[in-house]
Amino acid sequence: MYSGQKFNDLVTFSNGNKAYHLGEDRNAEGRDDLGDPVYAASNGEVVAVVSNQGSSTTGFGNCVVIRHDLPHAELINGKMVGSVYSLYAHLATVGVSEGEIVSIGYQVGTIGDSGYSEGPHLHFEIALAPTLPTSDDGYNPLGAPDKWVDPSDFINQHRTLGSTHSVLISDAQISEGNSGTQTMTFTVTRVGGTEAFDVSYATADGTASVTDGDYLATSGTLHFDTNVNTQTISVTINGDTTNSVYPPTRTRLKAILVTQHIYIFCGWGDR
Ligand SMILES: [Zn+2]
Repeated sequence: MYSGQKFNDLVTFSNGNKAYHLGEDRNAEGRDDLGDPVYAASNGEVVAVVSNQGSSTTGFGNCVVIRHDLPHAELINGKMVGSVYSLYAHLATVGVSEGEIVSIGYQVGTIGDSGYSEGPHLHFEIALAPTLPTSDDGYNPLGAPDKWVDPSDFINQHRTLGSTHSVLISDAQISEGNSGTQTMTFTVTRVGGTEAFDVSYATADGTASVTDGDYLATSGTLHFDTNVNTQTISVTINGDTTNSVYPPTRTRLKAILVTQHIYIFCGWGDR
């Protein structure tokens, strides 16, 4: 049975070397968790997908890194921090690609034993941007640098940012057309709870922009009444043939929820 390591645990390797653990290991004690789903810790953008890195490099195997923008910059380890990275290593399979916007709870892959690993488990790190945690090997002989934080502590401290009234928002896709306008409709679904709450939303430029006339900026507040589980957001899309970046046949908007605020990134994308 694999014995998991906590953040900053001092570890002795089989060759006698010692180093401190930069993440925390999660595995289902008492049973084999190979293939269990791994979910995004929060809303964010996938910024790195690494395939099968062996122990000669980082040893992370198949690994995913997601950037999470904080709702406001905050002081962490003596620095003002606007975003953090979460890293998921030793995955058996990866279900996301770079540039993809994911919501909290989206499945990024499955628990595995890839790379330098002594059994199926998830190696999970939280690193403060801009340090992308893909060049470290999960350990540091001098102790965890101040760009790494205790993942459980960090998540517990930020859990209130949207766990009370969490929602998921669908991606949407339409055929843009060469002229005229169309409406894209996003479905916003309550996650847990039955009480009434409000959530604000706004569009934001992705590869499409308001100034280029690709879509109309939209913002507002959705009210979820007691026991109401879904609401919708509509965005007006302008058809055109002038911008070759956006094939006339399809336009797709990706959506992301950040705490109590929904941002809809407007742009062309494939999954
Ligand atoms: Zn680990």
